[in-house]
Amino acid sequence: MWEEGGHFGASARRVREGGDPYVIVIPPPNVTSVLHMGHGLNNTIQDVLIRWRRMQGRVTLWVPGTDHAGIATQNVVEKRLAAEGKTRHDLGRDAFIERVWQHVHDTGGRILNQLKAIGCSCDWSRTRFTLDEGLSRAVREIFVRLHEDDLVYRGEYIINWCPRCLTALSNEEAEGAEVQGSLWHIRYPLASGHAEAAASARAAGADAVAELSGGRWHITVSTTRPETMLGDTGVAVHPADPRYGALVGATVELPLTGRTIPIVADEHVSAEFGTGMVKVTPAHDPNDFEIASRTGLDLLNVMTERAVMNENAPEAFRGLAREDAREAVVAALTAEGLLAGRDDHDHGVPGCYRCDTVVEPRLSEQWFVRMEPLARRALQASRDGTITFVPDRWTRVYEHWMENIRDWCISRQLWWGHRIPVWYCGDCGAVMACREDPEACGECGSASLEQDPDVLDTWFSSWLWPFSVFGWPERTRDLEAFYPGHTLSTAPEILFFWVARMIMSGYHAMGAEPFRRVYLHGTVR
Ligand SMILES: [Zn+2]
Ligand SMILES: [Zn+2]
Repeated sequence: MWEEGGHFGASARRVREGGDPYVIVIPPPNVTSVLHMGHGLNNTIQDVLIRWRRMQGRVTLWVPGTDHAGIATQNVVEKRLAAEGKTRHDLGRDAFIERVWQHVHDTGGRILNQLKAIGCSCDWSRTRFTLDEGLSRAVREIFVRLHEDDLVYRGEYIINWCPRCLTALSNEEAEGAEVQGSLWHIRYPLASGHAEAAASARAAGADAVAELSGGRWHITVSTTRPETMLGDTGVAVHPADPRYGALVGATVELPLTGRTIPIVADEHVSAEFGTGMVKVTPAHDPNDFEIASRTGLDLLNVMTERAVMNENAPEAFRGLAREDAREAVVAALTAEGLLAGRDDHDHGVPGCYRCDTVVEPRLSEQWFVRMEPLARRALQASRDGTITFVPDRWTRVYEHWMENIRDWCISRQLWWGHRIPVWYCGDCGAVMACREDPEACGECGSASLEQDPDVLDTWFSSWLWPFSVFGWPERTRDLEAFYPGHTLSTAPEILFFWVARMIMSGYHAMGAEPFRRVYLHGTVR
């Protein structure tokens, strides 16, 4: 009855005629979700605020909608396929996407109907979906604009990779769990000609440098993942570490591989941790990747996408899964007398948030958003009080994150989502980000074009939500009347995933904050 009477609606006209708007845009629940207590709490808070302002006579608007939830929705449908003994590859991309749409059409209205049933006074005539036509256009527009402004780029980068789901994961999707593991100590023989430097390092207190039987010198490094030594391309020490000064520039013979690798100096290495000498595996460890970027060490990928040792590993280890390779490497080192010992060692191991498989850092071509330029204005908005957080303690958390922001990896190896609007020319190699699907290469005219197979991170559509729901990039009357909004109510665990990014995109695309007050309520567990 309330709905039929249009009592929850708000029109741009009333605002133009002098009405004072009050706007909340709903945190869109996943389209596959079923109402839980968290939704109940979150939406009740919004409903209370909206009804209060409505009774004060303001032009209140609460915009509802749902999120296509890339990996989560794709997983639901893949599980159903698995029950039929099929994978998405059996169906092929188009048929699979159709299958997901079908699932969304069959079940996607459920959460919205449940919100209606608990009385949420949204303007239901304005219901949006992050993958509907208008929002898809907004996603494409912002991607192309950011690309034109050099704020989106493609780069080789070390990413969190799930070797089971075969997809990249954000840091937040690859959280560490504490495990009881081991720390192995491995001897790397120094190449000949460094005996004098080794002796002086030893004299300077370098316990990690010692003489093997037969007069050969070696260093000792420690690792929780011995199999990665097959991909080592260097050993690093801190430049100011007095013990190792003489050894910087020396080379070591990497056991089992027949390769020699250099000892380099890098500020990142902690002289206090372990022996102060670290093995560097740039293709399989994020910190080591950073060391290699600074010191110019090679990147050597020794694993396949399924975390099996590849052709860059020595023949004896090729084809072994990483766990088996670990055992084989430890056995081979022991046989050569190069295993110096093993200690029990509890440490964090990141796992895939969908399937719990141990995440394997992996080199990959990915798309990124340069965040630092976007973060400046968003940080200022908090510092100058334009945007406030309730409770206030979240202000510090937000600002700390914005001050230390890292680029955002936005490509996902999924099928369900906004496909990256980039085409590669098979003839001249041109890379084009396009608002409309291109017929021919803009550089050479060739028709041999291939679209990037990846889709965008789900948050790359929801970060536009406060203005895309009003028709952006068109300059609509709704946008004029209802942007900026006023209040956001959400749970603190998506402060970075979503809230911070909406603030950044709001300033970048609209030149104004998307809301002024953020309520971060408790999480119902
Ligand atoms: Zn996984
Ligand atoms: Zn071309």
